[in-house]
Amino acid sequence: MSLLKGKNAIVTGAARGIGRAIAIRFAQEGANVAFTDLAVDDNAKEVEKIINDSGVKGKAYASDASSFTETAKVVDEIVKDFGTVDILVNNAGITMDTLLMRMTEEQWDKVININLKSVFNFTKAVQMTMLKQRSGSIINISSVVGVSGNAGQANYSASKAGIIGFTKSVARELGSRNVRCNAVAPGYIITEMTDKLPEEVKKQWEDQIPLKRGGTPEDVADAVLFLASDLSSYVTGQVLGVCGGMKT
Ligand code: NDP
Repeated sequence: MSLLKGKNAIVTGAARGIGRAIAIRFAQEGANVAFTDLAVDDNAKEVEKIINDSGVKGKAYASDASSFTETAKVVDEIVKDFGTVDILVNNAGITMDTLLMRMTEEQWDKVININLKSVFNFTKAVQMTMLKQRSGSIINISSVVGVSGNAGQANYSASKAGIIGFTKSVARELGSRNVRCNAVAPGYIITEMTDKLPEEVKKQWEDQIPLKRGGTPEDVADAVLFLASDLSSYVTGQVLGVCGGMKT
């Protein structure tokens, strides 16, 4: 299949985890993929190689998604290198979990800036390109806890709920120019981010999931592929749960 043949995509935070799986899936479907990460390290170079080996163009860029100026600069560079942008996936994200009682201002600001402000930064930076070409698909990676909330994750849940509000607003603003904006809300996905959870917490998550397993980065990548491709040409402003049926 070549669902994304000839399209140019940007994926943020794609050296590892879910972003990596999205970048690779896109390349398998014929998209050229520019991706960012804090540094172009061995992980990023490996993803770059896998993309290029698929017969499309792949390039890693070092950029902190929480910085407005760095983001504007890197998107300019990507547009110069790739010509245009058809798909943006705002994936970069972190957790700094602790109870509100112990949460510091720094833990709040860092999570909000990396998870939520980054989505503003990249969407702002690509919007003129997408508006001018009268097409585009923006996919923001939220989380089930952005819908339900979660004890110990007030900062993270707030950032992910903010992404949903942002997504629905952008869908309304840009829809008349055929630019779509949707969110994906993964549940418990097995990556380095969740690997650090205690074993009993992981077991509890799995027990609560109707499909009785944690998700894989590839499960998320397939849902993102749907939203990136023309298969979803009449879908905008939606939040697609990829959570094995977890209650939110
Ligand atoms: P990982 O921690 O495995 O990967 C996160 C990636 O984002 C890393 O490559 C990391 O780079 C990069 N990154 C972190 N900060 C920045 C930054 N400031 N600028 C650019 N890149 C950055 O996370 P996941 O793959 O698990 O998560 C991906 C997304 O999915 C996140 O938004 C997360 O909140 C969301 N999500 C994850 C779930 C899960 O269960 N795993 C569930 C729901 C949502 P580096 O390698 O340099 O650290």
